[in-house]
Amino acid sequence: MAILLKRAGYQRITLYEKSGGVGGTWRDNSYPGAACDVPSRLYSFSFAPNPDWSHVFSGAAEINAYLERCASDFGLRPHLRLNTEVTAAHWQDDRKVWRLTLADGTTDETDVLVSALGQLNRPQIPAIDGLDSFAGPSFHSARWRHDVELGNKAVAVIGTGASAVQFIPQIARQVRQLTVFQRSPNWIITRNDRPYAAWEKRLFRAAPWLDKAMRYAIYWFMEQRIGVFKLGSKRADSFTLMALRHLFAQVKDPKLRKALTPDYAIGCKRILIADDYFPTFNRPNVTLETTGIARIHPDGVETADGRRVSADVLIFGTGFATTDMLQPLEIVGAGGVRLHQQWQEGAEAYLGVSVTNVPNFFMLYGPNTNLGHNSIIFMMEAQMRYIIQALNALLGQGAPALDVRADTQSTYNAELQQQMRANAFSADCGSWYKTASGKIVNNWPGSSIGYWLRMRRFNPAAYRFLARSEP
Ligand code: NAP
Repeated sequence: MAILLKRAGYQRITLYEKSGGVGGTWRDNSYPGAACDVPSRLYSFSFAPNPDWSHVFSGAAEINAYLERCASDFGLRPHLRLNTEVTAAHWQDDRKVWRLTLADGTTDETDVLVSALGQLNRPQIPAIDGLDSFAGPSFHSARWRHDVELGNKAVAVIGTGASAVQFIPQIARQVRQLTVFQRSPNWIITRNDRPYAAWEKRLFRAAPWLDKAMRYAIYWFMEQRIGVFKLGSKRADSFTLMALRHLFAQVKDPKLRKALTPDYAIGCKRILIADDYFPTFNRPNVTLETTGIARIHPDGVETADGRRVSADVLIFGTGFATTDMLQPLEIVGAGGVRLHQQWQEGAEAYLGVSVTNVPNFFMLYGPNTNLGHNSIIFMMEAQMRYIIQALNALLGQGAPALDVRADTQSTYNAELQQQMRANAFSADCGSWYKTASGKIVNNWPGSSIGYWLRMRRFNPAAYRFLARSEP
């Protein structure tokens, strides 16, 4: 966002970051095997191609290094305020500015506020009875304890989602005994990762058009998978068959296969990609445990049927708090309206970027913008360009602020939720896309190209441009 803002001529930009570096999720997630499940050629900025990706699916450290490099190469360092957490943002109705409160108690002011907090930044550890009594180390995958030696230990992993399928095969090779607690299995397809050869990197460097062509090819390959998410479609059936074939090829034991076979529509949870996850359960030192957890003891886990599984280390691959978006940042908009109060029934926005009653505020990767089939970077670039158009419109009109119209936002969301009904995200499964009442607040129900088309032109009629004297 800051790179594109600078390019568009906006110079007074401050980037607040609570940690000590850029990279966000790719900085936080350093667990063994952490990598992106979207090919790196596509999971990178269109305006900052990288011919040197080491793998088709490069690892977290490499993605983080890429983002650090972008920060330096595009001159963002002077704009960065690291180790600076924003705890609250209050809109000043009279002066039409945001007052930001920082964790150290000081305040700052800004005309426009853009949230780039993301949807997957607050690790979630379930409140299991007895958890505090556990004698050994226990940690979440997004806060990996590299100081904890796993070699020759009995390790219990709770959770089998996108993060867990990446680190389980890695740690299974080191530990004495690994017990994986699975609440529900996932649909998993092949990953087919490989390193790029030196000649390929040289070629991408020498012919940037080829790098670009590859990016487009990968984009369209992923985009055509949107059909998989249409409930009851032939594409969904053929994808389900493909996932089953993958499982049958990798696991021979029928009982184990059955335990690893989901009973819900493909796409309802994120479709995972892994070539080394299923074979991990063929190892003699790995057990898949499908009985629920009753409580934790100092020396292990008790299952719902009263068995005891001993463990020296507990690892939580239990995901993130995703639906109460932008928490714990307190955002108070026009007339003292609290954003989280407004979102009590579930977060919603207009196009995922603007929220009514919260003027001069925009979000990247906001409500209903997550995808199940393509790169989130594509979605976010569409948002960045839209936000810049909004700022240009603001300047063009000579208005101090804009606020999305309430009726525009509610019509948009009614249509979006209507479209969601035909999508696999709405099928019968538990997922991080749904609130406790079942409303899907994280995902976009359509194609990414459909979203891009809606985001291409900023529509001033969707907004109220506020005069300086207006509340
Ligand atoms: P997740 O997919 O939400 O998985 C959480 C796992 O923990 C699920 O298996 C869940 O079971 C289990 N769980 C949660 N609470 C539990 C409890 N009380 N008892 C037992 N099991 C429990 O989280 P994640 O793996 O961290 O991934 C989240 C998202 O991050 C992904 O969907 C993806 O978008 C992103 N991610 C991306 C990549 C990438 O390659 N780009 C890598 C990692 C993560 P249930 O399924 O039964 O709820």
